[in-house]
Amino acid sequence: MNIEEWQAKVDGWIKKYGVRYFDVMTNTLLLSEEVGEFSRLIARSHGEQSFKLDISAEEIKSNIAEEMSDIIFVLTCLANQMDIDLTIELRRNIDKKTRRDYNRHQSNQKLKKY
Ligand SMILES: [Mg+2]
Repeated sequence: MNIEEWQAKVDGWIKKYGVRYFDVMTNTLLLSEEVGEFSRLIARSHGEQSFKLDISAEEIKSNIAEEMSDIIFVLTCLANQMDIDLTIELRRNIDKKTRRDYNRHQSNQKLKKY
């Protein structure tokens, strides 16, 4: 599935099961909520916080993947309702980064420590 197909799939899902999109403000708050859920997992799996219960590495990875998907879903809703073509914008974004940073990271001595 490409990104155009993904945006259409989300749009179809919202219209079939979600009735309509939440408004932009609500979806932006939901996006923050999902980023918070992702951050919570990262703080416990990669940061200094610990999990309350024993959880396997596989479960952690699965939960992180789920939160990443939640973030992408809500972000896609926002793109759809704001009439933003993510295929075009992602291409534009990588082109911008390539022009701006074409040798920035390669000449960063801090990245050569590992
Ligand atoms: Mg979530």
